[in-house]
Amino acid sequence: MKLSGQCACGNVQFEIDGEPLVQTICHCPSCQKAHAAPMIQAAIFPAEAFRVEGATRCITVTDEPRAARRHICQACGTKVFNQPVDSVRTVFPSLCTPNDWFKPEMHIYWSTRVVDVVDDTPKYLDFPERFGGTGKLA
Ligand SMILES: [Zn+2]
Ligand SMILES: [Zn+2]
Repeated sequence: MKLSGQCACGNVQFEIDGEPLVQTICHCPSCQKAHAAPMIQAAIFPAEAFRVEGATRCITVTDEPRAARRHICQACGTKVFNQPVDSVRTVFPSLCTPNDWFKPEMHIYWSTRVVDVVDDTPKYLDFPERFGGTGKLA
């Protein structure tokens, strides 16, 4: 798919040309605090599918070994994308145009959820084994 997107002020713009590797809803404490939200919608794309322009700053919110490198707009502070590892970029559907393509396949970090969600997708207590988690389901 082809997507474009931008931060709240428009100084940072990005383009995506590729398919998401996985689409998740993340309930981890790091995302909850960074976004001041109970959960975030996260679509993970291969790094080569993602292109960004504009001044961003990399912040890391916690000292956890797996803490995502979060890239924010220097002007408005919008969290534009994450870089959990070098080979992927995490994109937030609410910043994208169009924004109606997101189909969550799973919830991750369900064990630290702030609110319950009723749907029929798997709820991993941390995350699937193929991403280095325990694979345990709620
Ligand atoms: Zn901005
Ligand atoms: Zn998270």
